[in-house]
Amino acid sequence: IQTIVLKNRPKGKPSVSDFEFVNETAEMTLKDQDLLLEPLYVSVDPYLRGRMSDSKSYIPPFELNKPISSGVIAKVIASKNANFQEGDVVSGLLDWKTKQISNGDGLIKVDPDKAPLSAYLGLLGMTGLTAYLGLTEIGKPKAGETLVVSGAAGAVGSVVGQIGKLLGLRVIGLAGTDEKIDMLISKFGFDAGINYKTSSDIQADIAKAAPKGVDIYFDNVGGPISDAVLFNINTFARMVICGAISVYNATEVPKGVSVQPFLVKNSALMQGFIVSNYAQKFPEAMQTLAMWLSEGKLTYTETVVNGFENIPRAFIDLFDGKNKGKMIVKL
Ligand code: NDP
Repeated sequence: IQTIVLKNRPKGKPSVSDFEFVNETAEMTLKDQDLLLEPLYVSVDPYLRGRMSDSKSYIPPFELNKPISSGVIAKVIASKNANFQEGDVVSGLLDWKTKQISNGDGLIKVDPDKAPLSAYLGLLGMTGLTAYLGLTEIGKPKAGETLVVSGAAGAVGSVVGQIGKLLGLRVIGLAGTDEKIDMLISKFGFDAGINYKTSSDIQADIAKAAPKGVDIYFDNVGGPISDAVLFNINTFARMVICGAISVYNATEVPKGVSVQPFLVKNSALMQGFIVSNYAQKFPEAMQTLAMWLSEGKLTYTETVVNGFENIPRAFIDLFDGKNKGKMIVKL
């Protein structure tokens, strides 16, 4: 059995040498309630970067020389648990291991006939729930309003934009390549897109794309992109602070525009969002997302990397924007 452990706490951008592959010859004997699992798809996510640092956050840091864990879709290959049978496919927070034993806690069965299995890590998983709940619970969208989404071509952003369109918003996305901008408009139905890497004036480009100003900002990236959005917010704007990938690798506290005057002047709301705090709404959100998917109202894209050995690389590539939609590793 192979396991990927955290070897060093990354300084700045993570590198493959921060991870180590360890071979184990552990006995795989199942006790009562146990399941033997073989992973099929592993999710790599920007938030894992936070868990690699030794600082207090909403989830504890990974321990050095211990396995890393993330969202995983796995096949049950043996079971001593009445709730799961051999052949079932489950989703849960599992270790980066080629085989592992679980007692079933926190695992949910997924239905391969309802959607492709990898979708349970994206649109029908944590990132889809984040998009739906962040936008509806904090963004409180009203038809006719203007929504700006940063990190728009990623797993969360691409779903936020589509839901925005379904709810009758004008939707503008920011992403890092022209190909991604084309995809936002042609595949996901965004009204406009801005390539933040080639724009000479992001603030002015937002003003152009949002002639009536910005009512909702769904922020996945933080930093200068979000500063540029601030200058364009409307009275009673809502800013959903979902992520800040542009500063996850920063080694010093980043400095930027002071937000307070913008909040005062515009009676605007800025609120942090952590999807796990909305767990009681997951069933309802999941049902809506699954319905929209089956009705063809929502779609998704994913970047699939093959092989257990490529999990660390796929994770690091998120910080270089190598993914379109959800980044997934297929084993
Ligand atoms: P994505 O699929 O969006 O992948 C990350 C993307 O971020 C890359 O593709 C890249 O696209 C963009 N990016 C990387 N570096 C920068 C940078 N310096 N400036 C701007 N953009 C950058 O990941 P997710 O959809 O899974 O997550 C998106 C955000 O949402 C993250 O910040 C994540 O932490 C957060 N999140 C928060 C949750 C919560 O509960 N609060 C739950 C899930 C996710 P590009 O080519 O456009 O640069």
